[in-house]
Amino acid sequence: MKIDYSTSLYGLIGDPVEKSLSPDIHNLSFSNNEINSVYLAFQVKSEELQKAVEGMKSIGVKGFNVTIPHKVDIIKYLDELDEEAEMLGAVNTVKNENGVLKGYNTDGRGFIELLKSNGVEVEGSKIIILGAGGASRGISMLLAKEGAAKINIVNRTEDKAVRLKEEISGHFSSVDITTGLKDDYTEYDLLINTTSVGMYPNDDEVPFDIELLSDSAAVADIIYKPLRTKLLKEADSKGHKIVEGLGMLINQAILSEEIWLDRELDKKSIIDEISKQFK
Ligand code: NAP
Repeated sequence: MKIDYSTSLYGLIGDPVEKSLSPDIHNLSFSNNEINSVYLAFQVKSEELQKAVEGMKSIGVKGFNVTIPHKVDIIKYLDELDEEAEMLGAVNTVKNENGVLKGYNTDGRGFIELLKSNGVEVEGSKIIILGAGGASRGISMLLAKEGAAKINIVNRTEDKAVRLKEEISGHFSSVDITTGLKDDYTEYDLLINTTSVGMYPNDDEVPFDIELLSDSAAVADIIYKPLRTKLLKEADSKGHKIVEGLGMLINQAILSEEIWLDRELDKKSIIDEISKQFK
C-alpha cells in the first residue's frame, strides 16, 4: 500500500483497543476498493477523551469509530447527531465534515442489514431476543423501528429486560414487548442471542433450548468467536436458517465507511475474507 501526502487517516478510539478487528476490516476494505486511506486504533483514556476528539478535528482526521467506554461520553464533544444515534444516546461513528463533527450509530443497523442479506424478514416478525446489554439495546430498538410485531426479551437479570422494554415502548408504542421466558415459542419467527453465553472459551454453553422453536424459525447469534456457536450448530442440525455474528461486526464497520466516503461498498467480500482468519 502506498502512503503519500493525500492519504486520509481514519481510526478507532477506545480503551482497550488492542483486540479490535476494526483496523483489519477497514484497511482490507480500503485496499480492496483502492481507497487511499489508512485506519489505526488509538487507546484513549476517559480523561483524555476531549483532547483526543479535538486532536482528531485539528489534524483533519476524516472520520473515526468510537468504542467502549466512550460511546455515550463522546456525544458532548460532537456538533451534530443523526436520528438513530440520538435515539440510542450512543455513537460508534464520527464524521468530520470541514471541522463539523457529526455522530452516528451503525451497530444495530449492521445487524438489521445482516438479517436482510440472509433473507430474514423483520417487519411483522415475532422475535425472541436473549440478553439486555449494550448490544441487545441497539439491536432491539432497531428491530422495533423496522416494524417487528412482537419482541420477547429474555435476560438473566430480569430488571434490565424490563428497563429495556420500557425504553423501547417509549419510542415505539405499537410493538408488543414482553420479558421473561415463556412456555410456548411456536409462534416466534426468529431467535437472536445477544448474550455472551457460548463465546470463546465457553464454547460448550448454549443460551436457549432450540427444541422450543418451530421448525421455520431462524436463529441468529451475534457472537463471532467461535464463528459458529454451539447454539447455531444445534439450530443448523435441526434445519433452522442460521445467521452468524461476524457479519454484524463487518456490516457496522463498512456502514461507518459508507458514511465517511458517501458511497456504497461491498460487504460480502470483506465478510468472506475476514471469516477465513477465524477458521
Ligand atoms: P454486555 O452489555 O455486557 O451484556 C452482556 C449480556 O449477556 C447481558 O444481557 C448479560 O446478562 C448476558 N450474560 C452474560 N453472561 C451470562 C451468563 N453466564 N448467563 C446468562 N446471561 C449472561 O455486553 P454486549 O456489549 O451487549 O455484548 C454481548 C455479546 O455480544 C458479547 O459476546 C459480544 O462479543 C457480542 N457482540 C458482538 C457484536 C458483533 O458485531 N457481532 C457487537 C457487540 C457485541 P445480565 O444482564 O444478567 O448480566
